Amino acid sequence: MVRMEPRGLTSQEETENDDGDFRLRRRHPLTFSMPPLFLLLLLSSIHASAADDICIVGSGISGSSTAFFLTNYTAPISAQLRVFERRDRVGGRLATVSVAGDTFEAGGSVIHPRNLHVRRFADLLGLAARDDGEGDDDWLGIWDGARFVFSTLPPPPPGSSWLRRRLHALLNSLLLLRRYGLSLFRMDSFAQEMLKKFLLYYNDFESRPVFDNVEDMLKWSGLYGLTQRTLEEELIDAGLNSQTISELVTVITRINYGQSVSISGLAGAVSLAGSESGLWAIKGGNWQLAAGLLKTANATLHLQEGIDSISDAGDYYVLKSNKGHEYNCTVTVVATPLDEVNITFTPPVSIPPRKMQHTHATFVRGLLNPKFFGLSSVSDIPELIGTMELPDIPFSSISVLKKRNQHDMTYKVFSRAKLDDSLLAQIFSTREETIRIDWPAYPHYHAPEDFAPIILDGKHLYYVNSFESAASAMETGAVAAENVARLIISRLPLGLRASPLLSSEKRCRWSS
Ligand SMILES: Cc1cc2nc3c(=O)[nH]c(=O)nc-3n(C[C@H](O)[C@H](O)[C@H](O)COP(=O)(O)OP(=O)(O)OC[C@H]3O[C@@H](n4cnc5c(N)ncnc54)[C@H](O)[C@@H]3O)c2cc1C
Repeated sequence: MVRMEPRGLTSQEETENDDGDFRLRRRHPLTFSMPPLFLLLLLSSIHASAADDICIVGSGISGSSTAFFLTNYTAPISAQLRVFERRDRVGGRLATVSVAGDTFEAGGSVIHPRNLHVRRFADLLGLAARDDGEGDDDWLGIWDGARFVFSTLPPPPPGSSWLRRRLHALLNSLLLLRRYGLSLFRMDSFAQEMLKKFLLYYNDFESRPVFDNVEDMLKWSGLYGLTQRTLEEELIDAGLNSQTISELVTVITRINYGQSVSISGLAGAVSLAGSESGLWAIKGGNWQLAAGLLKTANATLHLQEGIDSISDAGDYYVLKSNKGHEYNCTVTVVATPLDEVNITFTPPVSIPPRKMQHTHATFVRGLLNPKFFGLSSVSDIPELIGTMELPDIPFSSISVLKKRNQHDMTYKVFSRAKLDDSLLAQIFSTREETIRIDWPAYPHYHAPEDFAPIILDGKHLYYVNSFESAASAMETGAVAAENVARLIISRLPLGLRASPLLSSEKRCRWSS
């Protein structure tokens, strides 16, 4: 029998200490209108030993998508799908934070309209989009450490007419055009070209191979070349002028990946796509995607059970957990970046060295200090402050998350290092509440990138997050997971499900 432990899927409020003051709160129970799905599992022919489980390490979007796609694509068979999560909550880098009763995304925040897996997950799970437009910060100021070198117009007052809002958008476009010229269009076509190729990953099974390494997966879609050169090199070749690269593009890569334009071209293109319009997020928190997928997959969820070691025992793996338990697993899927976790592999596995870029997300309820920005009033400060790549700027971006009134706002600050109290005291004139989170956020991108294997040992030990060296996002996690699920199925005698919940026909409808 398969079972789902209820913790993490019910309404709860959690407090966790990272750096002393990280709090995560869950506020909404998940409800499902769908019947539980059959669980996958291995045919009796492949579990001659005591091992008959498929085990997934990590309950983020990659692990939960792997669980989902495995069950979605296979005929029901008997055995267990186990998902291990060292924390007391599911979702990994998808988590919310609560400030003065409001919930905000603390990690992965925005979803691109063409992130088709995530869109379809939300649809399937009955998760609605939040309606407060987080991510629609259209009053942008670009800060060079001394002044705003460029600013769009402050937004029209709430309740303004459609005409006034259209006029405002038009004027902003003209301002951008005046400063950056044709480079704006070139930047857009660069991102669109990448998106067009990325959409190939939603092709049906007949026209899309299963990949056993990331290089082939990227070469097949035509995206590999972008991982071998920096974003800056790519954009210069695409005809962007240096001002656009050092200002607008840099602002975007610093916001989305906390890094400069020396990131790889593919991570850069994903980052640029992440600044387009139409971005959205799940009402109540994106972490519900992971929770919903795990529930739909009917996985056995082991919360607060970290995996310490994975040992090859012949035709199965022995997973030892920090609770002292052992699990025999025919297939093991690692769905977390291995760069900062301490799992011992026997025999050892070989992956190229990769550093994670830490992003410090600091949530402040209070008010920015206009003097810090050389301004006389807080109402003159743009609602999204992006920064250039200059050594003395202590943060990557500051955005207004909520304006309660002129004196009471909630901000999200991204920085590469922790912002200590004395620095925050300069940037903010008042501070009622501060929440700090230090995320090992995404790989530190460079070019040329090299990739860890998807199959770590030539057998049945899989690594979903090798694809994260191409680009890190909810959707790239889901795309990598779908490929890993198909790869597992292709290498084991699993029966394919006749009519998956999410099929290629449904996909076509969404792609159009
Ligand atoms: C600040 C920030 C902003 C971002 N913004 C966006 C955005 O706007 N849009 C977007 O699409 N993406 C964004 N991302 C990226 C996105 O959040 C990630 O790419 C994605 O969530 C990664 O999911 P994952 O499942 O691969 O990894 P994770 O979410 O990291 O999941 C791995 C899980 O494995 C668990 N784990 C680790 N080791 C063990 C072990 N030994 N045993 C058991 N469990 C273990 C971890 O606790 C974790 O829960 C952002 C990320 C950050 C940090």
